[in-house]
Amino acid sequence: MSCSSVKKTEFTVKSVLVTGSNRGIGLGLVKRFLELPNPPEWIFATTRELAGCQSKLALKHPNLVVLELDVTDPNSIKAAAKRVEAHLQGHGLNLLINNAGMLRVTTMENENVETMAIVYLTNTVGPLLMSQEFLPLLKKAAQQSTQTGLSCSKAAILNMSSIAASIEVVPLWELRKTPSYRCSKAALNMITRCLSLEYKDCGILCTSIHPGWVKTRMGTEAVGPLTHQPGLPLTLSILKIISTLSEKENGSFMGWDGKIYPW
Ligand code: NDP
Repeated sequence: MSCSSVKKTEFTVKSVLVTGSNRGIGLGLVKRFLELPNPPEWIFATTRELAGCQSKLALKHPNLVVLELDVTDPNSIKAAAKRVEAHLQGHGLNLLINNAGMLRVTTMENENVETMAIVYLTNTVGPLLMSQEFLPLLKKAAQQSTQTGLSCSKAAILNMSSIAASIEVVPLWELRKTPSYRCSKAALNMITRCLSLEYKDCGILCTSIHPGWVKTRMGTEAVGPLTHQPGLPLTLSILKIISTLSEKENGSFMGWDGKIYPW
C-alpha cells in the first residue's frame, strides 16, 4: 500500500497538527501526510526541542511548520495555538492528532505517585488541554466546511490510545504490567468519549486510535523487539483509517486495522 492508495476524493484535509512528531509514530504520520497525492496546505509538527529531524524536512516542504510544544505545559500549548492561528490566516484547523505520549516500565509493586502522575499528566491531561486550547480553531474549521456529517477532513480530534488500555482485553499482561500507562490510556479513552458527546453538534469528530505495535522507542520499551511491526505499513494503515472515519466511529476506539476495539 502507498500513500497514493489514500484516494484524493477520500481525504482532502487542509490542515493538521500532530503532537510528538519529532520521532516514532508522530514523525511517520507527518511523512505520510507529506506524501499524499493532495497533501495538506498546513502540517504542524510539534516537538519538545526544536532542531530535530523535522526541521530538515521543513526545508524541503514549505507546508510543514515545526513548532515547540510540551503537552504538559499550558503556556506552551497556548503559545503553539497562537502560532498555528497566525499561520492559518483566518482558516480553522481541521485535524488535531494527540499523538505525544510516554510510558514508564513499571510493575504493580514499584508504581508510585511520581510515575502515576507524570504518565497521567502526559497521556491524559495533555490531550485534554490540547483539545480545549485548539477548540476554537477546530470549531472554525467545522463552520467553514461545506461537508455534511463528521469527518477528519472537516474537523476532528484523534487521540492516540493503546489496546493496552482495554479493560476487557488487558493484552500482554504476562510480558508487561505498566499500570500507569494502561490507566492513563483508559482515562484518555474516556476523554475521547466525553469530547465526542460534547462537540458532535459543533461538527467535530473525536476518536481513539490504537496504532498497532510499532517499532519505536516506546514500542521497544513496552513489548520488546519480537512483537514489533515496522512503522511504515502501520502509519499508512492509520492514515487510511483516518481518511474514512465518519459519525459512525465518533466516540469509539478504533484499531489501525479498521476494527472497533473493546473498551
Ligand atoms: P515514542 O516514544 O517513539 O515517541 C513519543 C513522542 O511523544 C516523542 O516525540 C516525544 O517527544 C513525545 N512526547 C513525550 N512527552 C511529551 C510531552 N510532554 N510533550 C510533547 N511531546 C511529548 O512513541 P511512539 O511513537 O511509539 O508513540 C506515539 C503514540 O502512540 C503514543 O501516544 C503511544 O502511547 C501510542 N502507542 C504506541 C504503540 C507502539 O507500539 N509504539 C502502541 C500503542 C500506542 P521527545 O522526543 O521530546 O521525548
